[in-house]
Amino acid sequence: MTMNKKTIEDIDVSGKRVLVRCDFNVPLDADGNITDENRIVGAMPTIKYLVDKGAKVILCSHMGKPKGEPKKEFSLAPVAKRLSEKLGKEVVFAADDNVVGENARKAVAEMKDGDVVLLENTRFRAEETKNVETFSKELASLADIFVNDAFGTAHRAHCSTVGVASYLPAVCGYLIQKEIKFLGNAVNNPVRPLVAILGGSKVSSKISVIENLLDKVDTLIIGGGMAYTFMAAKGYEVGDSLLEADYIDYAKEMMAKAGSKLLLPIDTVVAREFSNDAESKIVGEGQIEKGWEGLDIGPKTVELFSDAIRKAKTVVWNGPMGVFEMPNFAKGTNAIAKVLAEIDATTVIGGGDSVAAVNQAGLGDKMTHISTGGGASLEFLEGKELPGIAALQDK
Ligand code: AMP
Repeated sequence: MTMNKKTIEDIDVSGKRVLVRCDFNVPLDADGNITDENRIVGAMPTIKYLVDKGAKVILCSHMGKPKGEPKKEFSLAPVAKRLSEKLGKEVVFAADDNVVGENARKAVAEMKDGDVVLLENTRFRAEETKNVETFSKELASLADIFVNDAFGTAHRAHCSTVGVASYLPAVCGYLIQKEIKFLGNAVNNPVRPLVAILGGSKVSSKISVIENLLDKVDTLIIGGGMAYTFMAAKGYEVGDSLLEADYIDYAKEMMAKAGSKLLLPIDTVVAREFSNDAESKIVGEGQIEKGWEGLDIGPKTVELFSDAIRKAKTVVWNGPMGVFEMPNFAKGTNAIAKVLAEIDATTVIGGGDSVAAVNQAGLGDKMTHISTGGGASLEFLEGKELPGIAALQDK
């Protein structure tokens, strides 16, 4: 997978109309107030760069799932307001139910260098998620250049992420550039040793990740609910722990293929029931009894995993080591997060629950890179080519 994509710094944007696909899929409360503006904050470096260079900046994004028709509660109007406040200049909101309509055309025609316009929710159009040519062409007709900066939807081939790139020179913004640099390089071009840590609930949802990473890593660590299917594959009783019986043979195959590359838990924190206050104890390898379920890795496992992680120069982590939402079963996950925070290595947190876990431990700012896309980062780890990145020009 070649990952050397042109960025906004590789092209001349001054005076040009630049259509930027952002990820403004922010949560709103019942009154339409934005309750978490992280994604707006994340988009600012690219927007500011383009404004400073004197581009005419046309922003677009989806929000929620309006299912291909205009719905007031999914309007991007609140985002335009917040963007204006953050940029300290007016962001003109083109309130067209058909996204590229009279308002958008008029607003763009009136733009001066450094102006910013935001289009309405791209998913108000039924064509968007089907990547239909007509809407892609309409979007492209507004601009001279296309910039994709929405990593969270880069694994989807939609009009505003892929289709439009057929009609305009297409490059990436700073957010996607950073994901390629850290997540992409960690998997495809790592400084070794490379250690991958996988956890979370299911083997079945991470099969492609396991297979892709097994070929690339020096050590693969598997913890969390996924690990019990591997324990069952070793012939151990796992009690009431999470188990995917259909995947036991697969786990056996993977263990045989991986040999000493694969590290699995050697002790477990088991509980009487799935509750933070449940009676619990630590048991050794193969010692889970009927009537108990494993909810976290034990202290010996933390040591085993930590020793391997300390030798790494690159670490990729996806999925918690236990039920980290319950404080009594978050210790293993927190301990692993702490080791990552301490070591002198590139540490990449690959989306989803591990991001929540690292932030819950207060260690987010100690990691080299925290991926902004759940599904997109998982596909990256699976070794898949993300259509929204593939559509951009190579350097
Ligand atoms: P995933 O979405 O597959 O990454 O899984 C994340 C979820 O796995 C979190 O909600 C964790 O609480 C859960 N999880 C991790 N370890 C266990 C475990 N031992 N038993 C049950 N759930 C777990």
